[in-house]
Amino acid sequence: MARVLVVEDEASLRFVLEHGLRQAGFEVLAAADAATGWELLERADVLVLDWMLPDEDGLAFLGRLRRTPRYEELPVLMLTARAGERDRVEGLLGGADDYLTKPFSTAELAARLVALLRRARGRRVLERGELRIDLERARVSLAGEEVPLTRREFDLLAFLGRRPGRVFARGELIERVWGGDFRGTARTVDQHVAQLREKLGDGWIETVRGRGYRFTEEP
Ligand code: CA
Repeated sequence: MARVLVVEDEASLRFVLEHGLRQAGFEVLAAADAATGWELLERADVLVLDWMLPDEDGLAFLGRLRRTPRYEELPVLMLTARAGERDRVEGLLGGADDYLTKPFSTAELAARLVALLRRARGRRVLERGELRIDLERARVSLAGEEVPLTRREFDLLAFLGRRPGRVFARGELIERVWGGDFRGTARTVDQHVAQLREKLGDGWIETVRGRGYRFTEEP
């Protein structure tokens, strides 16, 4: 059963959503403010986020979430009372996957959540030529043969593989893959890239001189 987290400060709407989504077959977690919502995030498969919250703007919350590696892929649907086109564009640019303007029906919300979850599942396996990265099981295979990777090698490959063609500096990779409290050096990244090349062959991760690394766009 998929678990949805609803972050909505308006008690009556929160109540309606909790009950409606439960009836639609979801397990529901609910929070009345951003701080409580943040605490519950790690248990959620999909997030319904109100734009106007008492303690933090919904877009700021969303930005914070997208900058946190483990929540980068969490599907997010934003709720707003404002129907303007500008809001819609901002919401999508801010990293929301979908958007509903109040008032809306719980049935429509449930249908959108099901679609978001289906799309998210499709993103959990990356296939590029003979390389297959299973993000959910943390497994990698090449031409059908499983390739054993360490946790960091996998994290690095998965991070780059989800963003083919984008160049990342070593410092950024350390921050995004190893986490903010890591005290290693750029050399650590180089070592991991070398190990990945040894295991997977050259051609997947490219060195961009003076800038960093990128996952190939051409398998
Ligand atoms: Ca609100």
